[in-house]
Amino acid sequence: MEQFPPTVTHDSPAHPAPGFAPPQMLPPRGLSPWGMPIRHHFEIPLLVLSIATTVVTYLVSIALIASGALEPWVVLVLLAPILLFFARGQMYAAQRVNGVKMTPTQFPDGYQLLVEAAARFGMPQVPDGYVILGNGQINAFASGHGFRRYVVIYSDMFEIGGQARNPDALAFIIGHEVGHIAAGHASYWRQLGMFASNYIPVIGSSLSRAQEYTADNHGLCNRPYGAPGAIGVLAAGKYLMSLVGFDEMADRARTERGFFPWLVNILSSHPVLTWRAAALRDRSRHGRVF
Ligand SMILES: [Zn+2]
Repeated sequence: MEQFPPTVTHDSPAHPAPGFAPPQMLPPRGLSPWGMPIRHHFEIPLLVLSIATTVVTYLVSIALIASGALEPWVVLVLLAPILLFFARGQMYAAQRVNGVKMTPTQFPDGYQLLVEAAARFGMPQVPDGYVILGNGQINAFASGHGFRRYVVIYSDMFEIGGQARNPDALAFIIGHEVGHIAAGHASYWRQLGMFASNYIPVIGSSLSRAQEYTADNHGLCNRPYGAPGAIGVLAAGKYLMSLVGFDEMADRARTERGFFPWLVNILSSHPVLTWRAAALRDRSRHGRVF
């Protein structure tokens, strides 16, 4: 009986027959959803630029203080490490005291997806997960405080029974958020390094968009079939998501061109949806940041 698939041997013959060409071993495509998720190729260069901006801002602030200038923004810059520490502590505490913690008994589907995503990315620890009141809004975010990391999902991502309307889309979105943590985006030191660039147009938002593509790569690796649902829910909400044509959104990345679409994207913290859809569909290149 013939084996299917046929057994293949990879030993190359010492004396290949005339006309024999050894098979080319293709390098693994980092953007493939089947390997480990890849970082967007602009993320690290933009992070270096952001940190440089913050360092220069600090040096200027110190020089101004030394010369006796006590401008409010200078004081704000010098207090940034403490302000950021308090903001992160307060944000985490808000979830701990008001959020619904995802556990095997509360929002078990969400909890299970969180555990699976952490395992998919080889994380030693599963981040905490909280559901908070969405009031109709669709959103999710990831952050941390100290060594703790957590994901927050707005309640409108879930249905009345606590399940997701589209489990693949929710798996993608939770994979995206856990991906932010796995890629180090929720770290205090990274956020402090990005502090000044957040107030400078284009630099901060461009780094943020590169990070979003990195997180989308994680979401895709976690649940490849969740990408259309994730774009659908972000574009039209959970009730109408199935009416959103993923290919139609992705195709419009090519047709909706010009200065103003470019401007909308460059000022946004997230890549515009048409570009995100195009990047999720075309896995041969990184998503467009600019
Ligand atoms: Zn994100």
